[in-house]
Amino acid sequence: PRDGDSPSTYPSPPGGTDAAWEAAYAKAAALVRQMTLPEKVNITTGTGWTMGMCVGNTGPVARLGFPSLCLQDGPLGLRFADNATAWPAGITVGASWNKELMYLRGKSHGREARMKGINVILGPSMGPLGRSPYGGRNWEGFGADPVLQGVGAAQTIRGIQEEGVMATAKHWVGNEQEHFRQAFEWGTPNAISSNIGDRALHELYAWPFAEAVRAGVASVMCAYNQVNNSYACQNSKLLNGVLKDELGFQGFVQSDWLAQRSGVASALAGLDMSMPGDGLRWMDGKSLWGGELTRAVLNGSVPVERINDMATRIVAAWYQLGQDDREKWPLPPPEGDGGPNFSSWTNEEVGLLHPGSDDKTTGVVNKFVNVQGKGEEAHGKLARKIAAEGIVLVKNEDNTLPLSRNGWKNDTERPDNSKKYRIAIFGEDARVNQNGPNHCADKGCNVGTLTMGWGSGAVELPYLISPVDALQREFNSSSVELTISATQKITPSHEAELLHDQDLCLVFLNADSGEGFINADGIRGDRNDLYTAKGGDDLAIQVGTSCGGGTGRTIIVIHAVGPVILENYIDLPTVSAVLLAHLPGQESGNALSDVLFGDVDASGRLPYTIAKKPEDYGPAAKILYYPNGVVPQQNFSEGLYIDYRHFDKQDIGPRYPFGHGLSYTRFHLSSLVLQTKSLVRTPLPKPRPDADALPKPPGYDTTVPDPATALFPDGFRRLKKYIYPYLTSLSSIKKGSYPYPPGYTTVQDPAARSPAGAGPGGNPDLYATIATVRCQLTNLGVRPGAAVVQLYVSYPANYTNSDTGEAVDFPVRVLRGFEKVEVKPGGGDGVDKVSGKGGRERKSVEFKLTRKDLSYWDVGRQNWVLPEGEFEVAVGWSSRDLVLFGKI
Ligand code: BGC
Ligand code: BGC
Repeated sequence: PRDGDSPSTYPSPPGGTDAAWEAAYAKAAALVRQMTLPEKVNITTGTGWTMGMCVGNTGPVARLGFPSLCLQDGPLGLRFADNATAWPAGITVGASWNKELMYLRGKSHGREARMKGINVILGPSMGPLGRSPYGGRNWEGFGADPVLQGVGAAQTIRGIQEEGVMATAKHWVGNEQEHFRQAFEWGTPNAISSNIGDRALHELYAWPFAEAVRAGVASVMCAYNQVNNSYACQNSKLLNGVLKDELGFQGFVQSDWLAQRSGVASALAGLDMSMPGDGLRWMDGKSLWGGELTRAVLNGSVPVERINDMATRIVAAWYQLGQDDREKWPLPPPEGDGGPNFSSWTNEEVGLLHPGSDDKTTGVVNKFVNVQGKGEEAHGKLARKIAAEGIVLVKNEDNTLPLSRNGWKNDTERPDNSKKYRIAIFGEDARVNQNGPNHCADKGCNVGTLTMGWGSGAVELPYLISPVDALQREFNSSSVELTISATQKITPSHEAELLHDQDLCLVFLNADSGEGFINADGIRGDRNDLYTAKGGDDLAIQVGTSCGGGTGRTIIVIHAVGPVILENYIDLPTVSAVLLAHLPGQESGNALSDVLFGDVDASGRLPYTIAKKPEDYGPAAKILYYPNGVVPQQNFSEGLYIDYRHFDKQDIGPRYPFGHGLSYTRFHLSSLVLQTKSLVRTPLPKPRPDADALPKPPGYDTTVPDPATALFPDGFRRLKKYIYPYLTSLSSIKKGSYPYPPGYTTVQDPAARSPAGAGPGGNPDLYATIATVRCQLTNLGVRPGAAVVQLYVSYPANYTNSDTGEAVDFPVRVLRGFEKVEVKPGGGDGVDKVSGKGGRERKSVEFKLTRKDLSYWDVGRQNWVLPEGEFEVAVGWSSRDLVLFGKI
């Protein structure tokens, strides 16, 4: 294939080829063999939008005890649910760079889902990756680098799935902007095509998905957009080829909501589940699958092998996660009291069971089960910790931070005992929306303090501690006079005078964005600019110029969905500290005060680059705001050069580099030790394991069943617009020879399989460690702190591909590992104990580099290749602040 092509890739590789899934597949096959064709179809197709309690509900096979599955958003909590945690958003979690917290958040999130009767969480999001800093949904994921994104995603998945809940890796792939992500919202004839080169696909966009598959993810959601001019949910190269063959994905592919654009083609291309089951439009009752899939199997246009594999993948995922355990997952009524115990569609206790249909049957739909944990286990405590670690301190002059609760840091600073330290808080973002924290559906407005972006990735806040709430509580009122302005404008009569009198000014700013189905303040998902919202920059300029008549100190706190250009105020005379607090969720104020007062070290690091001006992100970073064709075309012509890779290549100085963030203490790195294994000199990974060495997909009877078994059962009560797997008559089944796509075969040709495949996330040899990097970390300051030690790799210079004779271009450096490490300060006797003598704590930090970490994707060979030559390994504090260097 040529770079950027999306060639036909058939047939769809059947699941059941991974040892870790073998037992689940055996059980699934035993169950699926007993299913009739409509029963198999029923579990592949949603029952229609708002037909059940969740945002996605599959049809059950009650006869065999296989329940309807509840699929629910989303990446930061349980959408449309009550009494559940509103976690810090993905971008905040990414900014914490804390693997343990990533995992723990996933685990508590998963437990909450299980307790609400949710089988499948529609998250984590790892696409968009953040090609464009304007991307409306970047905040749902973990940052603009495949390794950071991949670790965040994998840790989250491990946590969620340990609780028995299936996670969903979304959106596969190239959904890097909201504009024209599909046609029906945007009024274009077709969705946008993200035209991604094969190398960038592998080294950037697919990387986190490979990590998700390695973590055992049960489901992948295909995206709305097209990739290389083929819809992501019917793109056989991406689904059959990359995801199922090369990455060895064993779970099921579900469509994003109405992202399925065809019936047969999507089935052949590797889609396994149609969500929410409706057809080309919401609630049109005309599924592309359901009865249509039944008909397609009966008339021969979808092979029986394919429907068997779809059903088996779904049932296997269910077994793999232990959801057949009746104690943890009781059946829904009438057999048991399981199933979802909340309704996405009403907050009342009693509500419609099938709100989208003509059925008026009601029942108890909300049981208001509190899943937030109690006491020491309260999830709010964990949410607070993550939100605090996701705050990035980028500027802190004269140790303005941490603050003292008394205002004055010590008695010598205080002019006389009667004078109070005067602090004023400016900006609407400091307090809760006066109409309540959940005033706008799916958070589709920017009013009050910003806790998350908008769309399906937003949830109801069970409570919200605003910055003002926390600061009013924390400052000692006997020595601090705190004034809250909390407006966006400085009026000459009031705020201007107030501003003049302060010792300290706190300004709260924000920048919001979200999913394309909501337009808030003229922002249709993707950001229109990279500055703060609602005149925030003007507010910052006024305060930053005049706080205390120009002698005060100003601290700026920004809640934002992604990078914000700070140039308008960062260097103003009174601006002494700036914190990027991201999207903290319910514990916003508590987390902020933890860092402001230094109870917690400032330990967040930027999960993206902050430029000095928007143009610095490069031409490719711009959103395509206006369609440029019948199929809007977005060429990812920058290839590998997004975010810091672009800044490095173009040699542009950022304001703050990727990975940057200040701490309240000083860290020291030393003693780099590099160990390499002999396989470092083998350019290609070992050949993919032979099919005979792997478990075999289950075998089935593949005769086309008797069509009579597919008719609606006698006396069946049909609800309007509800999606069923049955047919009304047999006359519509016209057997014939239906043309399969060019190149289609039903038999796997071993020679056509990816040489990079055959294990979870690809050929197992790609994940063999080929080098170990170790160094020593010490805390030179007097406070405990948490350092984020980052490992970057530079590929050999002047490397030539021996097959093509062409020079291969590599990014200046790429992140390949990170560790967040807490280190205590020394004994406080002032002696430098780096030598190891005395009390100073010294911690060893270790990184393992895999073959994949040091390889690049060779498009010609369709494989990862380890280039010959010398690699540079650099360890340090950001992509631009590296202190230890070694060679491989
Ligand atoms: C409360 C209800 C409330 C529901 C939704 C329950 O815990 O008891 O009054 O409507 O949560 O938040
Ligand atoms: C979003 C998905 C989401 C789905 C279900 C779609 O609009 O793109 O991320 O999971 O809706 O709510």
